[in-house]
Amino acid sequence: MSARPDLGPPPRLGYAASRLDRAAGLRGDEAALKQFSEHPRAGVYAIGGEFVVLKSATGECDPQFTPAEARALGVVRESVFLGLMEQAPRFGFGLDAQAVEALKSRNDLKISDLRSIAVQGMVAAEHLPPLAEAKALLGWHARHRFCPNCGAKTELVQAGWRRDCPACKAEHFPRTDPVVIMLAIAGERCVLGRSYRFVPTMWSCLAGFAEPGESIEEAVRREVLEEVGIACGRVRYFASQPWPFPSSIMIGCHAQALSDTVVVDREELEDARWFERDELAAMLKRQHPQGLTAPPPIAIAHHIIRNFVEAGCDVFR
Ligand SMILES: [Zn+2]
Repeated sequence: MSARPDLGPPPRLGYAASRLDRAAGLRGDEAALKQFSEHPRAGVYAIGGEFVVLKSATGECDPQFTPAEARALGVVRESVFLGLMEQAPRFGFGLDAQAVEALKSRNDLKISDLRSIAVQGMVAAEHLPPLAEAKALLGWHARHRFCPNCGAKTELVQAGWRRDCPACKAEHFPRTDPVVIMLAIAGERCVLGRSYRFVPTMWSCLAGFAEPGESIEEAVRREVLEEVGIACGRVRYFASQPWPFPSSIMIGCHAQALSDTVVVDREELEDARWFERDELAAMLKRQHPQGLTAPPPIAIAHHIIRNFVEAGCDVFR
């Protein structure tokens, strides 16, 4: 195939490239936070469990509420300060998932999960990164109301960026879980797999959590070996993406495959096989003769595959 097939302009990666100034230095500034909460342009994202509340509209929905509008949606379990957008403060309000479910009957609102919101382009793209920030952070609060050290109830401090234990004085910080996601490559071919939960036509990069005591490169080599039995040598970092399901960061890599035989771990994958570079180009362009597809552009897997289709083994340069 040609060295650089024309795939058109690169699509936007979902949840990344936030325009928010997180203003981390103000998280402990009570006077500034009080001013922010009363700011005339304060915007609030309302989230309950997996669901985001949107103002329903034809065309793009609006995910931003005023603080008063958001409080009228239900009991606010947690409020977190996300940062400043052109000097205007943005907050995330955590509501109970059941309360948000109940809002589904209102026709002035739309209740949707953040994956669908991104894939279907329900809101302006600038909202996706702060929505991801709010969902991951509020989800962490919902799961950390008790101290993992002593079991006492913890308290939200630092505008939502820490929980403190009044009993043992431990300080707990929001976590993000590293996931390696990679494409094992040999010449003009690479390995893709299918998870059992994928739609029947979709194939994607392999992925898995990095484990304690492991480098990114080691995690990539281990996951590829475990899932498809291929040994890898060189690992080259490509790009990363926040993935708020519930609170991961996807670390995208290309890896040099050193062996050929695919041995599928059927506990993890329905199937895996080698794909030629021109077959991948057809999948990205949605012109594959059997209708096979790659993941949508909001997911980093799409970009990892696209980079290999465009650059071939130059991805290791
Ligand atoms: Zn404690």
